[in-house]
Amino acid sequence: MIARLRWALSVTLCVAVVAATATAAADPAYLLKPSRVFDGVDPKPHEGWAVLVRGERIEAAGPAVTAPPDTEVTVVELPGDTLMPGLIEGHSHLFLHPYNETSWDDQVLHEPLALRTARATVAAKATLLAGFTTVRDLGTEGAGYADVGLKQAIEQGIIPGPRMLVATRALVATGAYGPKGFEPGIVIPQGAEEADGANLVAAVRHQIGAGADVIKLYADYRWRPGEPSRATFSEAEMRAAIEAAHSAGRIVAAHANTAEGMRRAILAGTDSIEHGGEGTPEVFKLMRERGVTYCPTLAASDAVARYHGWNGLDPAPPPVAQARKAFDVARAAGVTMCVGGDVGVFAHGENAREIELMVAAGMPAAQVLMAATSGNAHSFHMGDQVGTIQPGLLADLVAVEGDPSRHIQAVRAIRFVMKGGKVYAK
Ligand SMILES: [Zn+2]
Repeated sequence: MIARLRWALSVTLCVAVVAATATAAADPAYLLKPSRVFDGVDPKPHEGWAVLVRGERIEAAGPAVTAPPDTEVTVVELPGDTLMPGLIEGHSHLFLHPYNETSWDDQVLHEPLALRTARATVAAKATLLAGFTTVRDLGTEGAGYADVGLKQAIEQGIIPGPRMLVATRALVATGAYGPKGFEPGIVIPQGAEEADGANLVAAVRHQIGAGADVIKLYADYRWRPGEPSRATFSEAEMRAAIEAAHSAGRIVAAHANTAEGMRRAILAGTDSIEHGGEGTPEVFKLMRERGVTYCPTLAASDAVARYHGWNGLDPAPPPVAQARKAFDVARAAGVTMCVGGDVGVFAHGENAREIELMVAAGMPAAQVLMAATSGNAHSFHMGDQVGTIQPGLLADLVAVEGDPSRHIQAVRAIRFVMKGGKVYAK
């Protein structure tokens, strides 16, 4: 039951070509004229700004930007719209599809790699056309290194999709992850790579050599079905793994729901904590002190609760209430927020769900939009390339109908998507 794509737009944009004196070698140029520009760093949109794009980069942005006379420029009128930096998905799994279609166990155990890869190409397109021009994809969940190839297919222009930071297989302590419940003597396909101690460092290095941009560690998990999560790796194991990742210039994301798993990962030097439902005020204070980003994944617990019959009304079931509480505690502690919904648990292309839920949980819309653009870019060490509308950065730009800093539902009304100066939807 894949959601209907919303970019089948009947919008008519006024596109005109002005000044036709360009040389054949000139890069294509666009002058984008929305009603306002949300630049990713200023909470207040700039009314009346225009943005000039040349080649793959932003050349100028401001109130007096016009088409240069000496070149061919495609003018894109976007009346009523807000132009923003392309949104950055902080936590996706392009190789998973919603659990109410197929359970996680069955995806890992029974779906052929080619099927999962074919589906991931569709997920990548849906993500891009939903306005998310970059994703941090946190593990293929049993699909090996297929994310490396998917990323290459996008970069080579074979298929449309977002820029990708990939985690390849992700890393779990031996025996900690799933699928579970089989005769122990049988080798079962796993959702991530098992490694411990010195082997964990070797596995980190192997994944980096194979294409990992980010290392994903599971700092805790349910050792057996039905029991609560408990810490897995020791702090020393994670410290060694994280040092190996950092020395190779890679960031680290730690899955952690328990306070103890979070504490160990933070002290070991992780760059972000994913989920964090049982985080205490002390743990979130430690995160702020260490500059660790928090990805609350509100949309994941929301989606799973709905799959179990929740109608979305209060009182929310315990996992949803817990995620909301952790979000409040983290905000009160001043932790830097990542926007990442754990997409794949729910449908790709529905990425904006996390943005909506963060606003519904009390974070001002403009702050959430800044977190989803310049904030995520900074956390993922990409701030010099994407996340902000300023000259010199890559032209990853999205226009939405209305003003999302006032009415967040506007992030769903995608009118225009550009990635690296190339138009994907208008
Ligand atoms: Zn995840």
